[in-house]
Amino acid sequence: MSKIVLITGSSRGIGKAMALAFARAGYTVIVNYRGNQEAAEATLAQVQTYSPESMMIQADVADNEGVRAMFQTVKKQYGRLDVLINNSGINRDGMMLRMTEADFDQVLNVNLKGAFLVSKEAGRLMLRQKSGSIINMSSIVGVIGNAGQCNYAAAKAGLIGLTKSLAKELASRNIRVNAIAPGFIDTEMTAKLPEDVKKQMLGEIPMRRFGTPEDIAKTALFLAGADSTYITGQVIHVNGGMWM
Ligand code: NAP
Repeated sequence: MSKIVLITGSSRGIGKAMALAFARAGYTVIVNYRGNQEAAEATLAQVQTYSPESMMIQADVADNEGVRAMFQTVKKQYGRLDVLINNSGINRDGMMLRMTEADFDQVLNVNLKGAFLVSKEAGRLMLRQKSGSIINMSSIVGVIGNAGQCNYAAAKAGLIGLTKSLAKELASRNIRVNAIAPGFIDTEMTAKLPEDVKKQMLGEIPMRRFGTPEDIAKTALFLAGADSTYITGQVIHVNGGMWM
């Protein structure tokens, strides 16, 4: 039987690249999205060419009822979950003095609380199975900070604390929890940055290129499976040398 992976926010960007990479590697993929049904359907259609048992589930990861309903479907459809990737993320950038409370809360709710809510439901299944791998999508800015992103950086730093704590809680049950901290990856999230900011960032990357969603997908595949069985509680930096 093929392994089951749930990737939150996999309608687009890095999540989509991971969905395709996992499907190609023989996993059955659950594509999650919040609002962009058209993109999710297009992703699922591509995923199903490699992995026909795959499905998509709409759920807002920041909404506990929605998350629980998603897991009812997962249980009914597959009865197990081998890998969870907490990838859903948003940004609402701005300098602190101009940032609204709503923008702060929303970013924390999706990026950090969402990972907690989804991990809790996944953890129930994985504890019963006595196996599993959870991967949290942090960010370089959760480690080094970034002016104009105090909400996002706080959420991504929080994910590292969540990762290490859950790794300690779940290790004895053969459940590993790790984080990936991407640098600058070419997706819709970064496409909206002004050209001068992008140029400046490129200058800070020793490898002289932005990362691709596929660069992150390869790392996620490694952390998910049998090649990383003694790795837990770690943050893997995938940033072209932007931070060492
Ligand atoms: P993206 O292209 O903007 O895609 C975001 C994905 O998250 C979409 O699938 C979106 O679904 C989903 N999503 C947003 N809010 C959600 C919610 N409340 N519930 C469920 N799904 C939700 O982003 P990306 O660049 O691929 O980033 C993916 C992850 O990597 C994020 O956690 C991001 O913070 C992190 N990251 C990205 C970079 C980068 O340079 N791109 C760097 C470091 C870390 P819909 O399509 O339905 O909106």
